[in-house]
Amino acid sequence: MNPIDTQKKIIDSNMENQTSPQKSTTQAPRKNNRKPKVQSKDTIITNQNQQTIWSLDDFPVAESEGKVRFHDLNLPDRVLKSIAEMNFEYCSEIQAATLPKTLQGYDLIGQAQTGTGKTAAFLIAMISDFLDYPLEESRNSRLARGLIIAPTRELALQIAEDAVKLTTNCHLNVVSLVGGLSYEKQKQILDTERVDIVVATPGRLMDFARNKKVLLEKVETLVLDEADRMLSMGFIPDVKSIIRMTPHKEIRQTMLFSATFPKDIQTLAKQWTYFAKEVYVVPEETTNKNIDQVIYTVEADQKWSILEKLVKEKDERTIIFANRRDETRDLYERLKDAGVNCAMLSGEVAQDKRVKTLNSFKSGSIQVLVATDVAGRGIHVDGIELVVNYSLPEDPEDYVHRIGRTGRGGETGRSVSFASEDDAFLVPEIERVVGEKIRCEYVTQEQ
Ligand code: AMP
Repeated sequence: MNPIDTQKKIIDSNMENQTSPQKSTTQAPRKNNRKPKVQSKDTIITNQNQQTIWSLDDFPVAESEGKVRFHDLNLPDRVLKSIAEMNFEYCSEIQAATLPKTLQGYDLIGQAQTGTGKTAAFLIAMISDFLDYPLEESRNSRLARGLIIAPTRELALQIAEDAVKLTTNCHLNVVSLVGGLSYEKQKQILDTERVDIVVATPGRLMDFARNKKVLLEKVETLVLDEADRMLSMGFIPDVKSIIRMTPHKEIRQTMLFSATFPKDIQTLAKQWTYFAKEVYVVPEETTNKNIDQVIYTVEADQKWSILEKLVKEKDERTIIFANRRDETRDLYERLKDAGVNCAMLSGEVAQDKRVKTLNSFKSGSIQVLVATDVAGRGIHVDGIELVVNYSLPEDPEDYVHRIGRTGRGGETGRSVSFASEDDAFLVPEIERVVGEKIRCEYVTQEQ
């Protein structure tokens, strides 16, 4: 039985007792049942003498036809200040499409991938909500208000990083609970710090939630990111258990994002959300308009020398994807021996080392990163010029994710995929998912 079938069985036999009522479009957003939102001193940024030290005047952004400014969304000043500090001016497409709905309290089902700005989309909605509706009394510091679940450590840590940036001007504490990093350290944080927003991978979160180190029964906003990936990685049973620990879907706000919506994900999305608004944003990388894609048809034993030439040719910031850990290591070692400034990111690298490696890649002190899919999935680094598929991914969806590491935020990028006698049969399926023919070039060592 393939993993999808297995998941489907679990879904079928384990339906949550949270089915939606029949009518679907007229339900008022959840916030209608709440008290009026706070417009008090807490949202205005003042110093000790109660003088305003930051206001919208400090964040001038001109109105622009067809664009939505963050100013126009009635966000708390504390959130706007953070947005200004992150140098965002206008909403990305998914932010413009979702924020007006999520800020009203609606649930959301969003089709979007990394690179579209979806992280800030759900974080801004969540943080603004917590500031607009502050807790009225002090309570157990282990009770989380916001919960974000992501399939990989890298992605969870990236989300946590953005959450920290977006909460710098308010008193919400972000805690990340991810596998692969010290359990003891995370436990200590839970023992000593207040938990406002938890960003977690499913397994580690289950450990802490079962042991009551973190409490989920008062979660106000739940975000499920990359739901399709959670399904393919076998996390859905854990995610179901976690969701059962949160308040009923009629009470919490739920936002679910997925790059693709196979049947199983559609079913889960319906089960877990309540009168959700649906938003589909086709990211630029799926249409591939700004990524120049080419497939090099090569002999398997010539791949290495072609790669070496490619990487040394222009000194571009590059990610090379391989399918297996041993292949990744082998490539990394060969590149290093060839004098290329490179590093490796795969499941065999300890998590803290991975975080350091990603930071060095981000800062530009490493030129080339060799990665597997799982490790590469959470890489949100701007300015990657070249993606190389040293071997074609077995799952064609991974192709989209891989090449989506370049050409982000409107920049142009390039992808080169090697197709040899071993894996060229995968090309038609990849083209089907990409939705177009990819240019093929026959390349030999001599070229
Ligand atoms: P994400 O899709 O969440 O991975 O975001 C992709 C990149 O876009 C990240 O580097 C974000 O910091 C950046 N980003 C998100 N929203 C905006 C925005 N409104 N303006 C400019 N950059 C943004």
